[in-house]
Amino acid sequence: MDTFDHQHIWHPYAKVPNDIPTHLVESADGVYLNLESGKRVIDGMSSWWSTIHGYNHPVLNKAIQTQLGKMSHVMFGGLTHKPAIDLAKTLIEITPENLTKVFFTDSGSVSVEVALKMALQYWANKDQSTKHKFITIRGGYHGDTFGAMSVCDPDNGMHHLFSGVLPQHFFVKSPSMAPMDEALDDLESTLKQNSDSIAAMILEPVVQGAGGMRFYNPQYLTKAKSLCETYKVLFILDEIATGFGRTGELFALEYVDVEPDILCLGKALTGGYMTLSATLTTDEITTTVGTLMHGPTFMANPLACSVANASIELLLNSDWQDDVARIEQHFHTELAPLKQNNKVADVRILGAIAIIEMQEEIGVEWIQKRLIELGVWLRPYGKLLYTMPPFIIADDELVTLTKAIKTVVGEI
Ligand SMILES: *Cc1c(COP(=O)(O)O)cnc(C)c1O
Repeated sequence: MDTFDHQHIWHPYAKVPNDIPTHLVESADGVYLNLESGKRVIDGMSSWWSTIHGYNHPVLNKAIQTQLGKMSHVMFGGLTHKPAIDLAKTLIEITPENLTKVFFTDSGSVSVEVALKMALQYWANKDQSTKHKFITIRGGYHGDTFGAMSVCDPDNGMHHLFSGVLPQHFFVKSPSMAPMDEALDDLESTLKQNSDSIAAMILEPVVQGAGGMRFYNPQYLTKAKSLCETYKVLFILDEIATGFGRTGELFALEYVDVEPDILCLGKALTGGYMTLSATLTTDEITTTVGTLMHGPTFMANPLACSVANASIELLLNSDWQDDVARIEQHFHTELAPLKQNNKVADVRILGAIAIIEMQEEIGVEWIQKRLIELGVWLRPYGKLLYTMPPFIIADDELVTLTKAIKTVVGEI
């Protein structure tokens, strides 16, 4: 632990000085983080869903180095560049056909802000500015900025800290926690009563990430989209965590081929190399919105766009479906039996994601210490111990990962 870091630097969702130790990483390669202590640990988190190809990848390194020799950044106001044009072309090609316009931002949260802003400006320009609220399912997570935070789960999100400031939106039952019919009834009755004031529905398709790590039936998406059409509410999908193969489909929306009006991408977009996100939308919304009042300083950063182009090409030219299926199969064989453990409440597996929900909160400090001894890096929160490793993880590394998980669950 670095004492300066401990005394002066904030880490995510933590205080200064931090309650639990932070570990200094000296370098990383493949699926491994090389810690200052000399320990080499498998990153079972993919640095929060993002490093799908692993660290220090020669192809991704080269993409950045090549771009660096040209320019690392230029403002996007009035200027443009090839990396952004190529990336926009690719994103339009690989996402649903109705999505034809791209807005680049620098983080997932900001791509959600832009999506919400698009929806608000859309209705305002249609002279329906009473449509200024959002609807979402409970248990969601969309980021930490104010707009994004206001559509995160109202109970496990940060609403209680900012209740006087956050706008009040509509929260309906999640199909991940209630039967699908019940969830759809709740959505329909809320839309029926309030559609005059609702601009858009926003949700994560199939996998709810940091709001509770829960899955739901993709059929819900088709039905929710159709209700939104009926009640004239835009449909925003947040694929920031699920995008680029994680669930076994390139995008989780492909489980049912639903077409969102607005789509948010981030995290694995650059293979976890740099911060970049994108908000995609349709011709019709773009035309109605007109001038979009948003323009980050580092919009469409060329280094980030270059590495995103290389990462997507690498993914599409790889056997990623086989890798994700192989990881999923391994999780089913090795982790699903943990359900028998009476301290385990549930085990959920989909694609390259495995979640062990315990009956009680997990003590982060001891479990991380123990996992590091066992050669693995994970970051549990609440009752959840979960992993979403890089797709390139080798079979023997998967064994190390799941063995470590089984060991610590046995020791809880
Ligand atoms: C991580 C995440 C965000 C926020 O992205 P940041 O880059 O951390 O701002 C938004 N939505 C979902 C679903 C996410 O997983």
